[in-house]
Amino acid sequence: MIAGPCSVEYREQTLEAARAVADAGATMLRGGAFKPRTSPYTFQGLGDEALAILREAREETGLPVVTELMDPRHVEAVLDAADVIQIGARNSQNFLLLAEVGRADKPVLLKRGLSSSVEELLMAAEYVAKEGNERIILCERGIKTFETATRYTLDLGAVAVLKQETHLPVIVDPSHAAGKREFVLPLARAAAAVGADGIIVETHPRPEEALSDGPQQIPTAEFAEFARQVEGIVALMGKQIG
Ligand code: PEP
Ligand code: MN
Repeated sequence: MIAGPCSVEYREQTLEAARAVADAGATMLRGGAFKPRTSPYTFQGLGDEALAILREAREETGLPVVTELMDPRHVEAVLDAADVIQIGARNSQNFLLLAEVGRADKPVLLKRGLSSSVEELLMAAEYVAKEGNERIILCERGIKTFETATRYTLDLGAVAVLKQETHLPVIVDPSHAAGKREFVLPLARAAAAVGADGIIVETHPRPEEALSDGPQQIPTAEFAEFARQVEGIVALMGKQIG
């Protein structure tokens, strides 16, 4: 279970979230330092300042950290702070960036593109593997369809297909698929039931003040209960968190 804020906004916000997810049994901390935002006029992430906060959160909680890399020019800085490098949905077919992390000595969390087929996701993974890095985690995070009731359409069938087609770990991001916090738990439970190897979830101490993705972030005060609810399905699958 990977959890943490959408964006690193300030020190206390990230540390509070990190402590809460560590206490709830999460096994990795997430938090965006470089944010791929639809509008250039919205919060773009704290960049290097966020990486320093993530390093501190890792030190305090002992949780490994995953954060997104958007630009090959940031690779050194991101590698210095991250235990796992995230390639976001919008860069899922940025082939030069994929090759760059393919030469890195850290695992890569590769998200499915907004409009990528399973085949295109697998080929994106090949771009990483081709350079020598075979430590790749595939992530289903919802795709664009005609349906707008949720933010994206979570393709749980793709998880089943990926589990069959590859030996790689497959995780689900129920937060970005849902777009609204009340749907995150049912999608997370469904992910566990379909056989996903993990989930990556957004949580914020005060989601109503969040600088990105507020509506889908689970208040950290409710995160332990969220984890407990997911754990029920995980146990039914004969697995455990961590
Ligand atoms: C994120 O995880 O913060 C994110 C931006 O996700 P995605 O690339 O799936 O939209
Ligand atoms: Mn987000």
